[in-house]
Amino acid sequence: MKLYICPTPIGNLEDITLRTINVLKEVDFVAAEDTRRTLSLLNHLEIKKGLTSYYEHNKDKKGVQIIERIKSGEKCALVSDAGMPGISDPGEDLVKLCIKENVEFEVLPGPVAFITALVGSGLDTTNFYFRGFLSRGKKEKKKELEELKYQKGTVIFYESPHRIKETLSLILDILGNRKACIARELTKKYEEYIRGDIDELLLLMQNKESIKGEFVLMIEGSNESKNEEDDELIDKYTIKEEIILKMDEGLSKKDAIKAVSKRRNIKKSEVYKESIDI
Ligand code: SAM
Repeated sequence: MKLYICPTPIGNLEDITLRTINVLKEVDFVAAEDTRRTLSLLNHLEIKKGLTSYYEHNKDKKGVQIIERIKSGEKCALVSDAGMPGISDPGEDLVKLCIKENVEFEVLPGPVAFITALVGSGLDTTNFYFRGFLSRGKKEKKKELEELKYQKGTVIFYESPHRIKETLSLILDILGNRKACIARELTKKYEEYIRGDIDELLLLMQNKESIKGEFVLMIEGSNESKNEEDDELIDKYTIKEEIILKMDEGLSKKDAIKAVSKRRNIKKSEVYKESIDI
């Protein structure tokens, strides 16, 4: 009959609305990203309900089954690991499937980790870009960060404790030093907001013996604008031609190599190779 997207606490168990509790009581079954975690929440709320798992690795098959059950007249509550289903979890796919299959659904408002973090960060909240998790591979991560270089609003990432140092270090290299904030363990006993420049946060993390908890990482937006003419140069000229162009503009060969490597964001050695016979 209907799907209800139910946000659940991101830490503090009191952060659940009366409406969500009532819906959880009313539905025929609950589709949960982590059935064990949802079971302990339902036990805490003294709600007994049938659970079915719906997570990244079974979402295609399970999504179809859930939709079939709803079509046959059942009410389902979708609950993610924590917070708002559909934000950095497979909830997005179930909503898409509902739209495709003409199945009615309703989104209940409630806790979202990144919104809580952003408000507490002290960074710009009028203009922000939620990026969620970056790819795990270093190469893909670098590429994704390159794309964020000129993002004007506060950039928001979800990150795991064992990748936070590497991510901060790449951000420092690619986006440059800026104001940042790490929101850790929000709504929990050891909640903290760590504010400072990226290099300070990186040092702090490097000096920690062990890094634990859940993190939202926020970086101040860029105050530089992308130079569209520079992009045109990449399309129009080869590396060698561009070095010559820069030298014609009055730069020494060394400075021209530096400028081209910086603008194309490639290694100086790569540019140097192209310059040997100039
Ligand atoms: N759907 C969730 C939401 O509404 O924000 C997020 C799910 S995502 C799979 C989980 C990530 O959210 C964690 O890895 C962490 O980056 C962030 N997160 C969740 N709870 C948090 C908390 N209490 N404090 C800080 N970050 C949290």
